[in-house]
Amino acid sequence: MSGEYLFISDCHLDASRPEVSATLVDFLEKRALTARYLYILGDLFEVWLGDDDPAPEHQHVIGLLRQLGQSTDIFFMAGNRDFLLGKTLADATNMTLLDEPHLLLLDNTRVVLVHGDILCTDDHDYQAFRSMVRAPEWQSTFLAKPLAERRQIAARMRSYSVDAMAQKSMQIMDVNSAAVQNCFRDNEASTIIHGHTHRPAIHAYDSNLSRIVLGDWGQEPSYLSWKPEQGFELHDPRID
Ligand code: MN
Repeated sequence: MSGEYLFISDCHLDASRPEVSATLVDFLEKRALTARYLYILGDLFEVWLGDDDPAPEHQHVIGLLRQLGQSTDIFFMAGNRDFLLGKTLADATNMTLLDEPHLLLLDNTRVVLVHGDILCTDDHDYQAFRSMVRAPEWQSTFLAKPLAERRQIAARMRSYSVDAMAQKSMQIMDVNSAAVQNCFRDNEASTIIHGHTHRPAIHAYDSNLSRIVLGDWGQEPSYLSWKPEQGFELHDPRID
């Protein structure tokens, strides 16, 4: 077993895009098998309405995560799409839920993991929405509703967010540079790893700081690897 770490995010698994599920299935069956740790940094699912959703379209991936979890430690941090993924599903898939931010020590490097939406502070409407839906009271009220009603509410929220996004500039939906600097400072970290923006890249800043952005998934996987002798490598069809 190598001491390899893999980081992924933003698969946005959805019944309407079976090719993405197929890409992830292949990744979990082959590539991820040789890793010691797999970190999923949010938006694994396009929508997650609660662990009581039978979600038949996702059962194959869920079964593979459970299987992989026997040899690879899997960690999950919620994204803005699947923040209702709870302990029931985590236990069923052998995933450990992570709070955000999460700190990781790789050799002597302090690495902080976030989904990425908390860094997009220029989007005030979204941040207000995030505070609402991340509140425990909102979540317990929502989860107490029948599944069909939750589905309707989520669809309405999604169409609102698509309309709102169409009117926002690309800059507003990217990370805010002060929020990034605060994230380095508050966590005393020299590396930030996040997804969410779907703009895979490794950004270098002054004082040896770096921000690694994971990509969203399509026909090919997008992932970051780390090994003691190699450091970080970002694998993405838009970069390779
Ligand atoms: Mn996201």
